[in-house]
Amino acid sequence: MSCVKSENAAPAETGVGGLDHNPAALMEPRVPGKIDRDLKNGGRVKQNDVAPKGVYLPNNNIMTPHMRSPEYVQLSTAASITLGIMNGKMHRCACTRCLNLLLTYPEGCRANCAYCGLARHREADRDYADRNFIRVDWPAVPMDQIIDIVAKDPENSPFHRMCISMITHPRSDKDTVTVLKNWTDRIDPDAIPVSILSNPTTMTRGDVKVLKDLGADIFTCAIDAATPEIFDRTRGSGVQSPHTWKKYWEILMDARDIFGPQKFGAHIIVGMGETEYDSLNLVQQLVDIGGHSHMFCFFPEQGSLMDHLPATPRDQWRRVQLGRYLIDYGGRRVDDMTFDDAGRVTDFGIPQSELDMTIDSGIAFRTSGCPGKFADDISACDRPYGDSPPSNIASYPFQPEAVDIRKIRQQLDMERPGETYEEGDDLELVDG
Ligand code: SF4
Repeated sequence: MSCVKSENAAPAETGVGGLDHNPAALMEPRVPGKIDRDLKNGGRVKQNDVAPKGVYLPNNNIMTPHMRSPEYVQLSTAASITLGIMNGKMHRCACTRCLNLLLTYPEGCRANCAYCGLARHREADRDYADRNFIRVDWPAVPMDQIIDIVAKDPENSPFHRMCISMITHPRSDKDTVTVLKNWTDRIDPDAIPVSILSNPTTMTRGDVKVLKDLGADIFTCAIDAATPEIFDRTRGSGVQSPHTWKKYWEILMDARDIFGPQKFGAHIIVGMGETEYDSLNLVQQLVDIGGHSHMFCFFPEQGSLMDHLPATPRDQWRRVQLGRYLIDYGGRRVDDMTFDDAGRVTDFGIPQSELDMTIDSGIAFRTSGCPGKFADDISACDRPYGDSPPSNIASYPFQPEAVDIRKIRQQLDMERPGETYEEGDDLELVDG
């Protein structure tokens, strides 16, 4: 699946039954099924034991080689195209600014998060290195090959940041250190700063400190669920997964102490049954302790335990994106905003002229994440089409143009007279 063409669910302008939000009662994950003993823990890959040779492109019809970090890592499709190890073009993007790496093992991630394509319950269905994650494939590449390419000219690299995504695996803490060390031995972290997308469940405060000492710049925790109840339902005991809200917050607070203000943050997925108030209240909590939030729009990932559920209606998503931007970068507070009985934003608490300026600048609707070299509020991690198809963009991986702003205003029900959006206007624009 390329990141240009993958469209594994119909676009959702509005929610089920015309709802403008995904309510909690609707967003119930499926129960994970039973898995044969021989297929557990990467049994098929280990049994076949095919030696890896160079780059492995995910292919569910052949024997997946026996690849392991730290020698091997997986790369997002966008990073693989930008690095030149995969052919392809991305709708309206010339490249990605973040080199997203993912640790890899035949045993895969041992957690079972309901919205995630990498989750353990897929063992019977697909080998780990063949699974889709945030809508795209992740080729497996020898780490030395990646470093060789980037180390040729780090200052002029298209990448403004590198990020190591840990997974839940007994070797993940140790191998993250090795991958980071191998990288910083040859690439100055001032030229390309490094972020860690952590796996709090297996980590200690000492592990966080080691990563900082080795040159990591930003540390994030994918809390993902906006409330403890949704966390437990989607990635804790509700789906036989080991994560707890308490442990995630413990490591997040360690990161606050060790990495310092503006150098830590949390991922939040919008549309898994929380209210808009829940999401924005969490954004506010993160700002109040000195961190940032990186937001994702819920998308029913094919093969996940939530692939039967609707993507987040665009009006809910746009309101939360806008509110998040105002709190994270606009100096506004959740307490200044007004919410209705269903927790939806009804007033952002700022003058209309200021609201118009924020919407028209478009930055609030870009992908959020760790910054690159353009501006503090512009994410290097642009994750092209990681949370939506190009036909119905949730997080814009590029600066929205006038046509995009018209579409966003339509989704927010804030269209200006005489500036309406016609279906498909934005899809005519292609570059890269
Ligand atoms: S811990 Fe991360 S990679 Fe593993 S299943 Fe959960 S979201 Fe997916």
